[in-house]
Amino acid sequence: MLVNVVSKKFDIPDYHTLEVALKNNAYSSIPKLFTMKPEEVTQEVVNSGLRGKGGGGAACGPKWQLMPKDDPRPAYLIVNGDESEPGTFKDRQIFQYDPHLLIEGIICSCYAINAHDAYIYIRGEYKFFSDRVENAIQEALEAGIIGDKVMGHDYRVNIAVHRGAGAYICGEKSALIESLEGKRGHPRLKPHGKECEWFFDNPATVNNVETIATVPFIVENGYEAYTAYGTKTSPGTMLFAMSGPVKNPGVYELAFGNKMIDFLNEVGGGMKDGKKLKAIIPGGSSCPILTAEEVQEAVLDYESMWDIGSTLGTGGMIVIDEDTSMVDVAKNLIEFYHHESCGQCTPCREGCGWIDNILSKILAGDGSQKDLETILDVCSTMNGKTVCVFAPAVKDIIQSIVKKFPHEFVAHFKNQN
Ligand code: SF4
Repeated sequence: MLVNVVSKKFDIPDYHTLEVALKNNAYSSIPKLFTMKPEEVTQEVVNSGLRGKGGGGAACGPKWQLMPKDDPRPAYLIVNGDESEPGTFKDRQIFQYDPHLLIEGIICSCYAINAHDAYIYIRGEYKFFSDRVENAIQEALEAGIIGDKVMGHDYRVNIAVHRGAGAYICGEKSALIESLEGKRGHPRLKPHGKECEWFFDNPATVNNVETIATVPFIVENGYEAYTAYGTKTSPGTMLFAMSGPVKNPGVYELAFGNKMIDFLNEVGGGMKDGKKLKAIIPGGSSCPILTAEEVQEAVLDYESMWDIGSTLGTGGMIVIDEDTSMVDVAKNLIEFYHHESCGQCTPCREGCGWIDNILSKILAGDGSQKDLETILDVCSTMNGKTVCVFAPAVKDIIQSIVKKFPHEFVAHFKNQN
């Protein structure tokens, strides 16, 4: 079941050092890269069907094609390594075990979009990972892999690491750019038409770490090698994280199209201590929850997850066992999201707070059926009326928990009226 596209070299000892990486064929896509035109590299990525692995799942190649042609302003590549979604910890594997693959991907991607400067935005708390990638960048610079020339090729690439201040919302690409520009990390209103991002009014593309780390494989081996994995509509692979009471939690690379239950049992080793599965939040904590029955049917690709009313998100699966209270799960999550709402939009700022307060009331035994109805009403107010998708995503997880496990909330009511 496990495959090796991005994770191929994670297990090689000290692979994060340039010396070991070069002995094991790192940067092997670069010679081929410079035999191609930038638009050919982009077309190869378009053909591969590579999608963003940061949660949104937008197609990567078409996103690159939004970069304006013949624009005199400098273009920028911004790599989103904020990775703040609970249950999601796969980009950190790349930072830790194969930072040179990320640098290689940045070189390929910069070349494709005609950028010479890239920023890697890393969540502030991830000092270990940020140090590791900065060391790798320094090694690559000293070895002439990046800098004024890329491995002797007449193309300049410079990479800078920027550490955020620990706000979840800075994983949203427009908030990330605001933060990178030195401003408060508030999401921007989105244009009606499709266009690239703008960094200090210069064209920019924002891609997730894993997305960028996948590009060298496609450049070196051709798009067919990537589409050989996965399904017709969700080609390729993804780093899926599994956390919770399973025997083998961790990060595993799978082709799209595997059954969730097989992943849980065959790779995750099944539930720990003989406990029964109650539910799984499939792709980071803001995707609609799946009951144990739904998990039996769930298939790990974008379309299949939409078909059963959830989303693949970041691929970070949070497994929940029979002993865990779903009211506690909802409370835990809403406390997090209440704290992390940037506060720009009333439905989000106030809605998260309302739900948080109501859940406290229910846990104290003072709740009623009316409170559950109020939670669902607040959820509907949070949907589709805000600057970014934070509020609709909070609505997704809270509403799904309340609708699928109402009896657990009712069990807390002292007064059942
Ligand atoms: Fe901020 Fe929430 Fe509005 Fe997003 S939806 S901009 S997080 S207040």
